[in-house]
Amino acid sequence: MSLKYKTALLKLSGEALKGDGDIYDKNSLENVAKQIIELAKEGAKLGIVIGGGNIWRGNLGQNINMPQINADYMGMLATIMNGLALESTIKTLGYDKVEVYSSLEIKTVTEPYNFKKARIKMDQGYITIFTGGTGYAYFTTDTNATIRAIEIDADVILMAKNGVAGVYDKDPNQFDDAKLFTHLTHEEISQKKLRVMDLTAATLAQDANLKIEVFDMQGDNNIIKVMHGELESTIIE
Ligand code: UDP
Repeated sequence: MSLKYKTALLKLSGEALKGDGDIYDKNSLENVAKQIIELAKEGAKLGIVIGGGNIWRGNLGQNINMPQINADYMGMLATIMNGLALESTIKTLGYDKVEVYSSLEIKTVTEPYNFKKARIKMDQGYITIFTGGTGYAYFTTDTNATIRAIEIDADVILMAKNGVAGVYDKDPNQFDDAKLFTHLTHEEISQKKLRVMDLTAATLAQDANLKIEVFDMQGDNNIIKVMHGELESTIIE
């Protein structure tokens, strides 16, 4: 079956790499990396944005009396660690064409983010990982994912969730009769106040008319399946 999307921005939460580990879990890292490699070999152009929640989130700063701006920069650093962890797993599994970009300047181990260079690398078959968030405090990695998706001219943002198949009318973890929406418009997301991504990211995605597919990344090869249109999910467009 052929690819449904040629160019995709995959947004993973930091938790996706954590599994049963404290910060990282080998199986979780390898599971994600293997699927990404398989898709790259199939010709998909993939940009990856990973959150930092397995290590640190900005709101944790409150617990230690830290100003949010400092705590947010620490969160951005956490996303760089996650990008490097994924890069190294991809390379260990034998795929060398992977580049880690950072919006924060960390030139010794990452490339400074540059959308033109990233596009060229993607055309050459590289998996590109966009770390460091937007480079600004008070934003989230959802916003970073949306901006990068627009900049690399992605067909879609694939929003990976852990254990839920997409967007529901109510919390599926609390209500057995929660109904999965298979299709929604950007307008419906804002009218129904459905929380798919934070408001800044959702507004940007709506303005750019960017397609979003929300899917459950738990399950055998679900990243591969969603790229082939073989998974139950929610499509927002
Ligand atoms: N962050 C930030 N600016 C950005 C992206 C992220 O300040 O552009 C910080 C913010 O503190 C956030 C943390 O990095 O809590 C980790 O990112 P996120 O919470 O999105 O990670 P996830 O929860 O998806 O793993």
